[in-house]
Amino acid sequence: MKILVTGGAGYIGSHMVARLGELGHEVVVYDNLSSGHEWAVLSGRLVVGDLADRPLLKTVLSAGNFDAVMHFAAFIVVDESVREPLKYYRNNFANALNLVEACHEAGVKKFIFSSTAAVYGMPESGQVTENSPFAAINPYGESKAMVEKMLKDFSSAVSDFNYVSLRYFNVAGADEQVRIGQARRDATHLITVSLRTALGKRQELNIFGTDYDTDDGTCIRDYIHIQDLIEAHVRALDHLADGGDSRVFNCGYGHGYSVKEVVAKVKKVTGVDFPVVETDRRAGDPPVLIADSSRLRSELGWEPKHDDLGFIIKTAWKWEKKYQKSLGDNAE
Ligand code: UDP
Repeated sequence: MKILVTGGAGYIGSHMVARLGELGHEVVVYDNLSSGHEWAVLSGRLVVGDLADRPLLKTVLSAGNFDAVMHFAAFIVVDESVREPLKYYRNNFANALNLVEACHEAGVKKFIFSSTAAVYGMPESGQVTENSPFAAINPYGESKAMVEKMLKDFSSAVSDFNYVSLRYFNVAGADEQVRIGQARRDATHLITVSLRTALGKRQELNIFGTDYDTDDGTCIRDYIHIQDLIEAHVRALDHLADGGDSRVFNCGYGHGYSVKEVVAKVKKVTGVDFPVVETDRRAGDPPVLIADSSRLRSELGWEPKHDDLGFIIKTAWKWEKKYQKSLGDNAE
């Protein structure tokens, strides 16, 4: 197939592009390089472009004869979305609208969307199914939920347009060949921040809240290895290629680890007993967020291969050391 991947130079998109290349698909990456990197595009051709640039988007899509579009490009920092909501609604929603319009004009009928568990907000029970209500509590989650609603309405109106929306839980880890990985200096996610602390790039790791209603008082998340997430996309693509209808899937393993458990595992894997400081809760963190991923397993036959926190952290650690070395004196 010929596939356009937006955000294909970013963390998750670049792993997708590498996998699509391995599978023999023809890939065009559309990325403005705001947080991605040209070196991360391991397959296909890179068009440096912005989703706000409708004429360019239209030209690329109309000329490309694409079988499918995979849409990864988005802003992802929750507290930034609270401070600068319009930035998120513009980039994550309005630009997705531009993209879907351009797909419509170019006759692209298959669309895969990177959604998020943040659409669920603070769920009553920790484990959520795809039928749990949209209840985002920040503009990031809301902007993604809005795209999902738009895709639902659009696919109802245009019967041969089908999409798969994948709601990511906590994606972590890196390419086993250590070619690509999380490469943002401003990363905020727990595993990356912990590894950078282990490397001495940060003085200490803050644990945001130890008074949650969980066994050890810290929040529980469902950490999924990036390669398993990518395989969910491969299955989603096959589903659409086989004429499958529009679907929404949670992407997680169905069980979680507390912040303290993750930190202990990072210390074990790295062999570094880095300083940890317990601080106040971070705004907007649900105590427990775990995927019910039975739909992904039963409908798409997805079987995770790396449901192992130690493995997730090991691959991220190998990558982080390489990445920080590449930054040299400019390291975080
Ligand atoms: N967390 C933390 N210290 C950090 C980063 C994250 O204690 O430096 C906690 C955070 O409060 C949450 C969990 O780790 O409970 C996972 O947060 P992350 O930002 O990695 O992902 P999120 O679940 O927000 O998407």
